[in-house]
Amino acid sequence: MKIYLDTIGCRLNQAEIEQYARQFRLAGHTLVPNPEQADLAVVNTCAVTSAAVSDSRQKIRQLARHGVRQIAVTGCWSTLNPADAAALAGVRQVIPNLQKDRLVPDLLQVSLPEFDPQSTGRQPIPGARLRTRAFIKVQDGCNNRCTFCITTLARGPGRSRPIPAVLADIRAAGDAREIVLTGVHLGSWGQDLLPPSPLCRLVEAILKETEAPRLRLSSLEPWDLQAGFFHLWQDPRLCRHLHLPLQSGCAATLRRMARKTTPESFAALVAAARLAIPDVAITTDIITGFPGESEAEFQESLAFVRQMHFAGGHVFTYSARPGTAALRLPDQVPHPLRKERNACMRAVFAEASQAYQSAFIGQVMPVLWESAAGLGEDGWEMSGLTGNYLRVNARSSRSLWNQITPVRLSALTPDGLFGQVQT
Ligand code: SF4
Repeated sequence: MKIYLDTIGCRLNQAEIEQYARQFRLAGHTLVPNPEQADLAVVNTCAVTSAAVSDSRQKIRQLARHGVRQIAVTGCWSTLNPADAAALAGVRQVIPNLQKDRLVPDLLQVSLPEFDPQSTGRQPIPGARLRTRAFIKVQDGCNNRCTFCITTLARGPGRSRPIPAVLADIRAAGDAREIVLTGVHLGSWGQDLLPPSPLCRLVEAILKETEAPRLRLSSLEPWDLQAGFFHLWQDPRLCRHLHLPLQSGCAATLRRMARKTTPESFAALVAAARLAIPDVAITTDIITGFPGESEAEFQESLAFVRQMHFAGGHVFTYSARPGTAALRLPDQVPHPLRKERNACMRAVFAEASQAYQSAFIGQVMPVLWESAAGLGEDGWEMSGLTGNYLRVNARSSRSLWNQITPVRLSALTPDGLFGQVQT
């Protein structure tokens, strides 16, 4: 069969679609870059915001317009709205998130042969470029009840993948220069295993048993990190980057969000990380306009974010999701004000990010080149990331795609740092 794959949303969805690609290939099917050529299309949907929901629906409608007769839909939006998904033209199956790890064998009605990394390797999904970073799913679901979050409903309780399965996936990622561990609630990895195991065991096993030059942890909830966790960074393969979602810098807002952290404990964690991991990039997520966020609360949040000197972050305008506790909270903030606050918060992040980046001007740092565009006689224009998540652009006489090379950082531009490749 000819299969077309598409995904919307987070890195976890990306990791899953890459897994489906490997499994379809392993079962002898061909992936195609255009839906017109497909006998079957699989869409991994998202429900994190109303925009993601409308994207999900639109992608499915477009597939039907392109004449795909069999569409299988999975992911957060279709799990929360199975009847709506099933009613869309061309949709033959809606696979709930709790069954998505068996999506390929279930659709094909076969049992997949034992996965053999040597025989399949890593190939790009047609129409997408092969990534230099491989997203590896190590965990799914979440046992927390943050009041704004739809994920716990859509993805179910926390489940960890055992170490041998994760190691097998990493080995299958073959030549990926960077492994990114992903999960809905990555920091809770191991809590449901028998016997329970802390996340540091998984990281230690990966560092010991696999060879990828870089290992990056995606998002970690601040309350999950135990004392001593940062000793792992004595291994230089672990990227000096921590994404610690804060969501608000105001204690009262955090309580209404049911987050298990306070600005004080968050600040202490960041201080410990900075002490243990020199030059670490700390990034975060912030929501503006959460229900009940008064002007005073927002100013408190803004001041705390300023004080944290983040290397970067994502600012989300609060979007009420059906089925969440926050939907029923009083004092919903008017939409224009949510957006105004978002812009203010972004300005603070932009300033902090520039300060963080500027501190590295003059240094030589290893960069993993993610893209290389040919400029004819002028060589190649490349873009990549340092371990501490600095975006770096440079020119080179040859393509260095998927290589890690030292670069002297010389200037800050609107697109990131500019540097000279050191030979
Ligand atoms: S920790 Fe909170 S925000 Fe994160 S997935 Fe769980 S419930 Fe959602």
